[in-house]
Amino acid sequence: MTALTKQLQSFVENTTESPFSIYNLPYGVFYDSNNTTPRIGTAIGDYVLDLALLEEKGILTIGHQRLFNHDTLNVFASQGKSVWSSVRRRIQSLLSIDNQELQADQALLSSVLIPQDKITMKLPFKIEGFSDFYASEQHASNVGKLFRGKENPLLPNWKHLPVAYNGRASTVYLSGKTITRPKGQLKPPDVDVPFFAPSKKLDFEIELGVFVGVGNPDGKRIRIEEAADHLFGLVLLNDWSARDIQAFEYQPLGPFLSKSFATSISAWVVPLEALQNVMVPLPKQSPACVEYLHQPSRFLPDIKLKVEIQPRNSTHKTMICETNAKELYWSLEQMIAHHTVNHCVMKPGDLLGTGTISGLNRENWGSLLEISSNGVNPITLHDGSNRVFLEDGDTVIITGYAETPDYKIGFGRVEGMVVSAVQD
Ligand code: CA
Repeated sequence: MTALTKQLQSFVENTTESPFSIYNLPYGVFYDSNNTTPRIGTAIGDYVLDLALLEEKGILTIGHQRLFNHDTLNVFASQGKSVWSSVRRRIQSLLSIDNQELQADQALLSSVLIPQDKITMKLPFKIEGFSDFYASEQHASNVGKLFRGKENPLLPNWKHLPVAYNGRASTVYLSGKTITRPKGQLKPPDVDVPFFAPSKKLDFEIELGVFVGVGNPDGKRIRIEEAADHLFGLVLLNDWSARDIQAFEYQPLGPFLSKSFATSISAWVVPLEALQNVMVPLPKQSPACVEYLHQPSRFLPDIKLKVEIQPRNSTHKTMICETNAKELYWSLEQMIAHHTVNHCVMKPGDLLGTGTISGLNRENWGSLLEISSNGVNPITLHDGSNRVFLEDGDTVIITGYAETPDYKIGFGRVEGMVVSAVQD
């Protein structure tokens, strides 16, 4: 961890209290009405800084390759940690109150600093692959208790390896996309023959997504001690799940159509480097893990996460869940080390989901499956209506931020409205 040498301050207005402080600087892909070419920017306060334009003007140059005049972050993320750090330091310097390069040139400043309410965001990466882990012990225990009983909620493998499955990259969507209720084969306990119908148990899962920056070639794994150098940054992730489709299909190979219809992510990718001062140590694992997953000390970022539901025609959001990234049992490094130990190839833009992040109590549980005990215990929203699973017109909003006494690191939000199943 690198200690801050001194407090940074930006000349951009209102950045001290903003979730997009000078210590955050998340990357995203955007365009605006003046320039409809998608390109890379970073969020600062209420603005986005146009990194492609700074690069074009020779103000932000790292090597000879154009890194920011792209409609995805894949090329920049593939450059590796030293380039990520150099770029970050340069941007922090350019935005600093002590640096005159931008702030003294009003014409330049107005062309590179664009209000966020004037831009449209795009999916940050061309996502090569998506794997979803199952790394929260509370979540795995809650689900295990629901389906296997209280005695042994965790399966025998759970504390020995970070359990995961290969998800579907083609249906990872940017926040804001409406989610069409999926159809599939349902077989409630009271019927003998499955029938094809819209899911009646549509759910959210609050997760973090981590984007791989540097991958590994065929024949070479990513070792645990170098794993952090391969991880570029984090987003909020909602792994939409159809529990009734899942219940009938998932044995023996795991979830398939119950998950692959949609996964939503937030637009701004927060670099791991921005989170170094909010990392918290994790408890010692028991039983001890195998050697290829062993870390002398393990850390996760302290990121406060929240889920709210806002029904159609309601102006009120109801808090459904408050949880924290530090609740995970497995570290991000352990996830990628495990994923590649068999020489599975990772590429820049691969997305790893942490799995649902649940805390100790019901108000900290990260899915309606857990909160409603699979449809048995409803929750009441502010408008007086009850929910056991999501209804058409419900918007699910996930937000998250980290903070120190001096600054905030916001993740923005990932949201999506559920709409009714369609005739297709
Ligand atoms: Ca999941």
